Amino acid sequence: MRKFIDLHLHLDGSVPVATIKKLISEHHYPIPSDEKLRQELSVDSNCKSLDQFLEKFALPNKLMQTRHDIKTIVYDLLVELKEQGLVYAEIRFAPQLHTKKRLTQENVIKAAIEGLNQFLIDQKQENSNQPELHAGLILCLMRFANNQKENMETVELAKKFLNHGVVGLDLAGAEGPIPNIKYKQFFDRAQELGIPYTIHAGEAAGPDSIRQALEMGAKRIGHGIRCTEDKKLTQELIDRQIILECCATSNMNTKAFDQIDSYPIKKLLHKGMKVTLNSDDMTVSNTNLPREYKLLEEKTNLTSEEETTLYLNAVDAAFTSPDEKIRLRALIQK
Ligand SMILES: [Zn+2]
Repeated sequence: MRKFIDLHLHLDGSVPVATIKKLISEHHYPIPSDEKLRQELSVDSNCKSLDQFLEKFALPNKLMQTRHDIKTIVYDLLVELKEQGLVYAEIRFAPQLHTKKRLTQENVIKAAIEGLNQFLIDQKQENSNQPELHAGLILCLMRFANNQKENMETVELAKKFLNHGVVGLDLAGAEGPIPNIKYKQFFDRAQELGIPYTIHAGEAAGPDSIRQALEMGAKRIGHGIRCTEDKKLTQELIDRQIILECCATSNMNTKAFDQIDSYPIKKLLHKGMKVTLNSDDMTVSNTNLPREYKLLEEKTNLTSEEETTLYLNAVDAAFTSPDEKIRLRALIQK
């Protein structure tokens, strides 16, 4: 079985459809038809922008407001990822989006860790030959206008749960209206606290947003694919061995790119860029990591050698321990 690593996977955009249905029925909400549900959760080829793409998160977020629901979603997602052949995943979510009922950010994080730990316990008892799936949680800050308090709370909680389920921080939300640099103070604090982080940039916004993420100390960039619009920046990313967390289908959906055939991951790889391939939002984009690899094999002639490099780049970039990296490198060499 092929082995995969996903470093860029949003929990709310990747809730398994079966889990959505299960939670809708537990809450006694009206159950929509499969067709209606698909329209509500996934984009089609008419998706025009990142903003339209983000509309698909409304229903999942409605179902992510209790401890039980969040735990269930994390657990079910991990089961699905293991079935796909993942051996390591970093799953990200913004705790502040899940406090609409009674939960505090801290309880949201605890619920996600409970789901993760339950999965790890059950996996140990499974007795299968398949390599284990290990995972960590990345907490997202949100690019909103008036949420300084909530963002700083997320940073402090990341420190509290660091290495106990949480592995890092991120900055997410609609790119463009407010530039990344406005959020620098939170990442200065993360640096002080020794929390690793990645920042979304160069997806809906152009090269400037990537430059700002670098200025904020990011060693990993969520997407970053629009660096191709700026030669000098591309070279700087290569020289500094900055990791790009590329997500092909998602970039097609949000129109960051419009032709999968010319998706530049191969080109960047051959220039020496530390690129990785990830799924972003499995349910919203109707994809998963094995499908992303297959798509690039078919459309860009991605070779198995190049795939190994993508895997090893992901190992280097993972927010995890040296021992876990040794395990992951050994898995691909088998
Ligand atoms: Zn993302």
